Amino acid sequence: MKYEVDHRGYYGQFGGAYIPEMLYPNVEELRNNYLNIITDESFQKAFHQLLKDYVGRPTPLFFANRLSEKYKAKIYLKREDLCHTGAHKVNNTIGQILLAQRLGKKKIIAETGAGQHGVATATVCALMGMECVVYMGQVDMERQRPNVERMRILGAKVVPATSGNMTLKDATNEAMRHWINNPSDTHYIIGSVVGPHPYPDMVARFQSVISDEMRKQLTETIGNPFPDYVFACVGGGSNAAGAFYHYLDSEHVNLVGVEAAGKGVSSGESAATTALGKPGVLHGSKTLLMQTEDGQVVEPYSISAGLDYPGIGPIHAHLFDTGRVKFVSATDDEAMNAGIELSRLEGIIPAIESAHAVAVLNQFEFDPDDVVVINLSGRGDKDLETYIRWGKY
Ligand SMILES: *Cc1c(COP(=O)(O)O)cnc(C)c1O
Repeated sequence: MKYEVDHRGYYGQFGGAYIPEMLYPNVEELRNNYLNIITDESFQKAFHQLLKDYVGRPTPLFFANRLSEKYKAKIYLKREDLCHTGAHKVNNTIGQILLAQRLGKKKIIAETGAGQHGVATATVCALMGMECVVYMGQVDMERQRPNVERMRILGAKVVPATSGNMTLKDATNEAMRHWINNPSDTHYIIGSVVGPHPYPDMVARFQSVISDEMRKQLTETIGNPFPDYVFACVGGGSNAAGAFYHYLDSEHVNLVGVEAAGKGVSSGESAATTALGKPGVLHGSKTLLMQTEDGQVVEPYSISAGLDYPGIGPIHAHLFDTGRVKFVSATDDEAMNAGIELSRLEGIIPAIESAHAVAVLNQFEFDPDDVVVINLSGRGDKDLETYIRWGKY
């Protein structure tokens, strides 16, 4: 595969493993073992069994009739919103917990910003009877109270990160510190295609079930596996990596990543990394990130907590660099309007992250026969407060 990671963990000039020396043994253990474990037949069997019986896969590929009429194309929705826990994230946490078991780990740690990855992690830890500690910025814990309580109901311990801005970055630092101090019995579950190699590749492989199913489902419905377009929102980029994965070498399939423009790309309150970012190192890999002249990470902003990230995974930095994926963006208002539109046209209230992918349809000129797949990464239940506060419906 042309866009695959190389043996050093690079996608073109991006990726690698920029980690403190103390973390080296943990990451090295993963790097030496992940491919053997996850390509093993018994692992794949256990993984797919759980995806089927526990997550509810395959998720439907739904023909959105009224949306199609409006945008004059054949639009399908890949319904990741129907996954157990309400989003695609659980595909990855199931994969990683099975891996952790095979590495003989007894405890799981994770970091979380909005709490979605923390909930997905707490969920699979309960399922497997493993101890779970989730680090979360104290400010985020106050903002995302229901998810904090969900994690606690599931039996996880939620530890507040009280350094810095007390948000995601600080939670990540605390989780790393924990991992350094407990290398032999603990696995760190990262929630997107970010972090040091091998995490981006590993997470992309687990999420690639999305495009694997799309190929089969399209073959059944339209007679061939190839859509003309695939749209997916990009925070760190895991749902997009999963939706693009099996189409990367099929250059006739247009792949579109949608970032959060927040209040506008040039407003100073945005999370549109490809538009604003420059190469740098973030959370253990070289990638594109939003930073000041002297390399300080710029605080990102988006109405959607899941897209509020100052970087993107190295695979996406490379796909942007090579032009294989076209990156566009939607503002808060555009995403909220699209969320309401999808609710009214199809009876589906999307996560605000996913609404960003719907919001850019009017930036494209489709042929009436074009087959367009939107990866609907999650459902809107968690965002009800935000919809209510926005109020225009
Ligand atoms: C976390 C989240 C995202 C963003 O994460 P990616 O790694 O970019 O996929 C998107 N949609 C939903 C519903 C999420 O929960």
